[in-house]
Formats: sequence, C-alpha cells, structure tokens
Amino acid sequence: MKSSVISKEYLALQTDISNLQKEWQKKLEASTIIEKQTLTEKQVPVIAQTEVVINLEQYKEWVFELGDLLVEKDPKLINDIKTIKESLNDGVVKRWADEVLAFNQLFFAKYAEEANVAQWLPYLIAEHAIRPFLRVVSEVFKEDLSALETKGSCPCCGEPIRLAVLEGKGSKMIVCPRCEAKWQQKRLQCSSCGNEDHKKLSYYTVEEDKNLQIEVCEECNSYMKIIDTRKKYKKLTPFLLDVNSIHLDIIAQEKGFGIPKEEVSS
Ligand SMILES: [Zn+2]
Ligand SMILES: [Zn+2]
Repeated sequence: MKSSVISKEYLALQTDISNLQKEWQKKLEASTIIEKQTLTEKQVPVIAQTEVVINLEQYKEWVFELGDLLVEKDPKLINDIKTIKESLNDGVVKRWADEVLAFNQLFFAKYAEEANVAQWLPYLIAEHAIRPFLRVVSEVFKEDLSALETKGSCPCCGEPIRLAVLEGKGSKMIVCPRCEAKWQQKRLQCSSCGNEDHKKLSYYTVEEDKNLQIEVCEECNSYMKIIDTRKKYKKLTPFLLDVNSIHLDIIAQEKGFGIPKEEVSS
C-alpha cells in the first residue's frame, strides 16, 4: 500500500499504540465490563443503550503508559505529559472516560487549553486508552451488530464508518477501526444510506493495487474504503488498515465525497 502521505515515524507510532492496545485488551475480563443483553433500540449503538463499566484504575494506568510511549517517541512532550498525569485525580479520570465515550472533542480541547498542553494530546491519549474496553464490547455483541440500523455509524461504538474488507468468497464486511466491530454488508449496497441502485454506486480502484477500492454513493455522497485482505494486508488490524489507507480518504475527499449531501447543496 502506498503510504507516502504518512511518514514512517507516524506509522511506527500507530503500530506501537496498536500493539499496546492488544496487550491491554488481554487483561480485560468481558463480564466485568458489559452484560450480554437483548438490544431493544435498533437505531442506537450498543454503547449508548447498555452500561459499559470502565475500570478507572486500569484506564488511568493505560493513559499513563500511552503518555510514556509518546514521550519516548518525542521527548519534547515530557512536560505536557507530566502536566496531564498530575491533573488526573479520580474525578478527572472519570470525566475523561465519560467524555471520550461521548465523542466530546470540545471537552478535551478546552482541557488542553486550560492545562496549557498541546491541543491534540489529551484527546488522542483519552481515546486510545479507552479502545480496549470498546473492543471487548464489540466482541460480546458481535452476533447482534448486523441487525442494528445505525446508518453511517458503527452499531457498536458510534464511530463514522469508512472501511470495509473483503473476505471469503468476497463478502463485504464493514470494520470499525475504533472498536474493531465487524459486520456484513451487501456487496452492492451503500453502507451509509442503504441505496441499492447500482447506477448510483461507483467503484474506483487505486493505483496499481487491485486490492484497494473506493466505493462512492451518489445518493448520499458518502464513500467507503474497501480493502481486499484475502491476499495482502491480512495481518493488519482494522485500526492499522485505516491508518495505512489514509491516501484513499484523501482521494475520496478530493472528489468531494464524505460530506453529507445536504451540506453540499446548501
Ligand atoms: Zn466501532
Ligand atoms: Zn449512500
């Protein structure tokens, strides 16, 4: 996969974060985080209609570990990380977990401003440290995800969808880079609006690599990166597939896709 749009250092950092998350996830016991139950709301993601229990001690430990990794990669961050660590009393840790689950980027921007640390830093750490918990939830509910109808967003965690893989005989499975949920989608159907009018769906292949495609829908103006992982890219997690295919997002967005239709026409 062409990765000239992202630097080697960036990719190495993302890989390290992904590996840390795998290690963390092994320490989690599903029954302490989520109770398997019948989902009653079809249009609401799992985490918004169940109670996800975050062990705040563990969450805080991972926030610290991630901070240490970032300092190791970029020693200039040492003071910012020190400030963040000092601020994380029990109340603040709880708030971080709540706000990151609610995608409240504004909260973290304000936090960064008040703590006088790099703007991007608190949200990145808060988000990556919560992901192992979300991945346990998606695993527990994996059989139920395709029945939910959270169009355009992940039925488990609510993240906007943008990535699918082709498996087996060519089944299109949508994967979430955030919670690693995976569910099947009809091959010729827009994953965001459900449009099945083939004339309004187009597929672009990218460069010389037949394994990479962009699906675009003229009905709702969304796009989906489709990666055939049957020969290549097998070992990459959904998160790393997403990072490695950022150039597809750029191509799709340059063509004007990814912005909801109402916003384009207004
Ligand atoms: Zn998700
Ligand atoms: Zn669509």
